[in-house]
Amino acid sequence: MTSRQLTTRTVSIADLRQVVDVAALRHPEARTRIEKGAAIVLLRTIRPDPEYLGCFDVESESEPGRFYSVDQGVGVCQCPDQQRRGGRCGHIWALELLRAVARLQARQTAAVAA
Ligand SMILES: [Zn+2]
Repeated sequence: MTSRQLTTRTVSIADLRQVVDVAALRHPEARTRIEKGAAIVLLRTIRPDPEYLGCFDVESESEPGRFYSVDQGVGVCQCPDQQRRGGRCGHIWALELLRAVARLQARQTAAVAA
């Protein structure tokens, strides 16, 4: 999947809710951050880093206008939450949810075509 295909513009709320539910079932301990990631997908900006392939600038949920660089390949974000705690922060979850929605939409498209 190219970074160009990863866009928040075509995300429907129904699809996002579905992937949030699946993610929260698989990772119940991460529900708060998963839901934070969903809020970022809906309300904030996620854009590919023009310089680093596979990296994205993800806007802060709590501080609009502030962006954190996320390297999704290695699961690293520069935000204070991940620096302090490790694991997947809301910014990484936002990217994961976007990818999950893209996969869901691809399956729906394939089902319609079949
Ligand atoms: Zn982060």
